[in-house]
Parts: sequence; C-alpha cells; structure tokens
Amino acid sequence: MRLEAFVRASRNAGIKLTHQRLEIFREIAASSEHPDVDTVFRKVRGRIPTLALDTVYRTFAVLEREKVLARVSLFSDKARFDPNTEPHHHFVCTKCGLVRDFYSGQTEDFRIPESVKSWGAVDAVYIELRGICRACGGNL
Ligand SMILES: [Zn+2]
Ligand SMILES: [Zn+2]
Repeated sequence: MRLEAFVRASRNAGIKLTHQRLEIFREIAASSEHPDVDTVFRKVRGRIPTLALDTVYRTFAVLEREKVLARVSLFSDKARFDPNTEPHHHFVCTKCGLVRDFYSGQTEDFRIPESVKSWGAVDAVYIELRGICRACGGNL
C-alpha cells in the first residue's frame, strides 16, 4: 500500500519510475525502522552496486515533497524518515535510536494550553516518548 502511494507520488511529480527508484521505494516502504538515507542507500546498493547516494537523496526529497514520507524530528542529528502517514506517535530509544510507532486515542483529550492558542491554530498533537529499549537494557 505504501509502495503504491510512492509510485503514485512519483507520477504526480513527473518523475520517471526507474528500476533503481522502485528498489529504493521498496526498501523504504518495507521498513518500520524510520530509516535514514544512508541506511537505505547501503541496503539497496547490496542489490544494485551501481546505485549513487545522490539518487537516494533525490528520491527521498521527491517523496517528502509529495507528502508520502515524513521527516521525523528526533534528538539525533541524522534525518530519519517515516513512510507511515497515519497520525501516530513514537517511542524512541535514546541509546540506539530505535523508533517504534504507537497509536493513542488519549491525545484527543489533550488540553491545549491557552498560551498556545494565542500563538495560533493547532492541527496535530504528536507525542514522543524517550527511553531505553529492551535490547539496550531498558525494562519497559
Ligand atoms: Zn535501544
Ligand atoms: Zn512513525
């Protein structure tokens, strides 16, 4: 389904659907790791040795522009990307950078402070829970 969204987005953007791009799409769509560009590059290059890093960067940029891929704002300096466009939240391990999606209806009850309302309109509430994952020794 995400792959279809990527293909549609690239058509909208007037981008030619090359074999390389399709493989990059596949890699991002299949990942639940909120990957960065380098990780996707390394994995796809395993299958396509002639792949250039620049191609991967450009492909990410197109998907981001077409809003089928979201940039995850994390504490780390590396940009991570999320093919999950449903409203959701993240658990983040501050040791290894693991990111997991979770859904919570509780944000509907979140009371937006008056001070925020004075700044402007809110259209999304996003929660990032930080901690240590089990693999890093965290007892969740
Ligand atoms: Zn961890
Ligand atoms: Zn996510």
